[in-house]
Amino acid sequence: MSGEIPGAVRERLSQAIALIGSVPGYEAEAESLREMLVAGRIRYVATMEDRAHAGLLGTITLGPEPFAPGGTLLGLAETLVHERFHLTQNPLEKTVSFWAGVATKSDVMARYEKPAYQAAENFLRRFAQTFPALATESDTELFAVRSSFESSYGEVLS
Ligand SMILES: [Zn+2]
Repeated sequence: MSGEIPGAVRERLSQAIALIGSVPGYEAEAESLREMLVAGRIRYVATMEDRAHAGLLGTITLGPEPFAPGGTLLGLAETLVHERFHLTQNPLEKTVSFWAGVATKSDVMARYEKPAYQAAENFLRRFAQTFPALATESDTELFAVRSSFESSYGEVLS
């Protein structure tokens, strides 16, 4: 499970974290991600099928998808913002989300996932305002985030 992060992956992570830090208001976010990377709390599992997940022990685990050819640095940055948001959620929220989903017959993880998707969306909107010349890239990522939420959880991200 653990083990060294391959050099190319670490380099890409550092670049994505630097990109996050270049967006006004996200300096502290980038700093805490940088600390996590140094502390070994960002992990890479080459065989993982999920894009990424956040663990209860305060770690972010990434699979190969955000590093695949065709994936953008902004996509990796957005993923890191999303997963770090989960680390700020009360661990019980996952359970609450599950039972709320069962009770309302909606997707069981929608309540838990929605604010993390929203955090990523907010970051991408701020990025778009900061770097209007990169609008094509940020529009593409925004579309991907919104469609992923909609197709996974059956509701629109507001
Ligand atoms: Zn999530």
